[in-house]
Amino acid sequence: MRLNTELKLNYEDVLLQPKRSTLSSRRDVDITRTFTFQNSKETYTCVPIVASNMDGVGTFSMARVLQEYKMMTVITKTTSIEQWKKAVGQGIKLKYISVCTGTGKLWDDKVEDYATMQQVLKGFPDVKFITIDVANGYHENYVDFVKGVRDEFPDKTIIAGNVVTAEMVEQLIISGADVVKIGIGPGSVCTTRTMAGVGVPQFSAVMECADAANGVGGHIMADGGCTEPGDIAKAFGGGAHFVMLGGMLAGHNESEVAVIDGKREFYGMSSDRAREIHGKRKDGYRGNEGRAVVLPDRGLVKETLEDILGGVRSSCTYIGARRLKDVPKCASFVRANSVINKAYERYDI
Ligand code: 5GP
Repeated sequence: MRLNTELKLNYEDVLLQPKRSTLSSRRDVDITRTFTFQNSKETYTCVPIVASNMDGVGTFSMARVLQEYKMMTVITKTTSIEQWKKAVGQGIKLKYISVCTGTGKLWDDKVEDYATMQQVLKGFPDVKFITIDVANGYHENYVDFVKGVRDEFPDKTIIAGNVVTAEMVEQLIISGADVVKIGIGPGSVCTTRTMAGVGVPQFSAVMECADAANGVGGHIMADGGCTEPGDIAKAFGGGAHFVMLGGMLAGHNESEVAVIDGKREFYGMSSDRAREIHGKRKDGYRGNEGRAVVLPDRGLVKETLEDILGGVRSSCTYIGARRLKDVPKCASFVRANSVINKAYERYDI
């Protein structure tokens, strides 16, 4: 056995240090980025904040709002082809959409999510992104699965994960992924760290994995653990090319979840609740690594997005980054012990 004693940090353990800046207004900051992907060879411009493929987040209603901000939504893998057809006729901009599949096809050739993905990509060639979603990207057959998808769809941009270490980022990129999702255990409704005792603190994981991805011409998406706009800025500062959000976007009108007593349900995709709704896992394993919660109804997601973008822009002006692309270059972090003044928190209205 081995113990790595190097300190690993979460977003809440660091702050961005302000720097002299010539930027006079948040409006001067360009928060779009243009990427050219290593394997698909596609060039893509967006605001690189992404709605997660979770129930209550990866919905077409969410996509309809996020697309106006040039942000991407990963539609859940349980969305049927009929739902896709209906939504595409109702103002969805396919440029800002990713289709999603799990890896159930490894065990069951007729699995629905993979077949739906094939139909979506055939019927709507303007969908350019495929997200291959598994909780644990370290299985050997996951790498083969990514290779298989790359062979079948040579010009689609593949988002694959989740992993938290440099060598696995490199492996996935070499195997055909364009963007590797980083995060094991940081999610707002995730219980992997308590159930399995596995994970790496998210800020350090993002920094190390970004470095590895840059080394082989790939990209990363920091997935999970952002609870405030400042966390998103820290993820970009730590080198994330994209940031994926679940909990921060849940509980809104666009979640397509009923309001009961002023609250909306939200749950992890590996929770018992998700299994109750979508059925058993096909690989025969039973694991409950997610929780179910009820969130106060948060209304329109537009308000939350404005807060997020305001925070990220403000962060850029503090550190003197004129473009989001410059953020890692401009970012100096301080390690902190306690970062938030909570004195009046209990009087929140
Ligand atoms: P959040 O932004 O809510 O902190 O994290 C969202 C991410 O948590 C998702 O994109 C996904 O990677 C992860 N996630 C979603 N559901 C579950 C779950 O049930 N268990 C675990 N371990 N992670 C989950």
